[in-house]
Amino acid sequence: MSVLIVGSIALDDIKTQLAEHKNLLGGSASYGAVSASNFSPVNLVGIVGDDFPAEHIGLFKSRRIDLAGLQSVPGKTFRWSGEYMWDMNTRETRSVALNVFEHFTPKLPPGYESTPLVLLANIAPDLQHHVLDQVRQPRFTIADTMDLWINIARESLDRLVARVDMLILNDSEARQFTGETSLVKAGKKIRAMGPRYVAVKKGEHGCLLFGPEAEFFSCPAFPLEDIHDPTGAGDTFAGGLAGYLAANSKGDISFDILKKAVVHGSVLASFNVEAFSLERLKTVDSAQIDERYRLFQSISHFEKI
Ligand code: AMP
Repeated sequence: MSVLIVGSIALDDIKTQLAEHKNLLGGSASYGAVSASNFSPVNLVGIVGDDFPAEHIGLFKSRRIDLAGLQSVPGKTFRWSGEYMWDMNTRETRSVALNVFEHFTPKLPPGYESTPLVLLANIAPDLQHHVLDQVRQPRFTIADTMDLWINIARESLDRLVARVDMLILNDSEARQFTGETSLVKAGKKIRAMGPRYVAVKKGEHGCLLFGPEAEFFSCPAFPLEDIHDPTGAGDTFAGGLAGYLAANSKGDISFDILKKAVVHGSVLASFNVEAFSLERLKTVDSAQIDERYRLFQSISHFEKI
């Protein structure tokens, strides 16, 4: 099975307390697509300007990422700039330039509308709706979001949450979205809004997965010694999860397969933060993913899942 991924494709400037790099490949769809492509073919939907480097297109092409849904138009690619504090957890957005994104309408090329798995990576909820309107009976739909949309597009986000099978968001967004301090209460409250599954990411503390029948899974994070750039960890997690589901679920998507997908998403995210941009993610191979999955299992004692 393939995964349809829509989201941002960006050029990022990133500063940590140890290093600074400019004009890096970024964006929720870039991280999501490269991550998912470790497990399944990807249909990518997004937009770039004529300043977008050919080497990044080359990277997408070298993976199983179909680019028929990638619009390349005159103008500048979406740009984002952020700075991380010492804890590598707190981040400040320095600037955002929508550029070609301002007039973006995602349009699915022929064949994409029947993609069975859909990942609406972080992007304005109205655009996520636009993609959902075009797909035909997908088996499973996942949406990711961010604080910005909770602040400025709440009504559209509420409607989106009611339309998808799974919502992914981080801990502070879950609290902001529900007004609950307890993440367990927040997860349950979001499920009551529509999605059968909710994943609440907790950065270096792992992830909580909520399912129907009060099912619950607490996944730790893979403990890393060196984190160089946390950008895109959430998008990489979502892409890995979606790609794993596409490759490994037959028939109904059960809580058990989702638990495994969450662990695989976490494994991919742990590779991603080891280098700036997609530098580590683009070199990781299936043997390294399997090896880290096994190590993760043994140190976290979840051999049975
Ligand atoms: P994450 O670290 O998972 O929050 O994702 C970081 C990526 O999201 C960066 O590569 C940015 O280019 C991208 N990004 C930042 N702001 C936005 C936005 N408003 N819409 C879509 N993508 C964004």
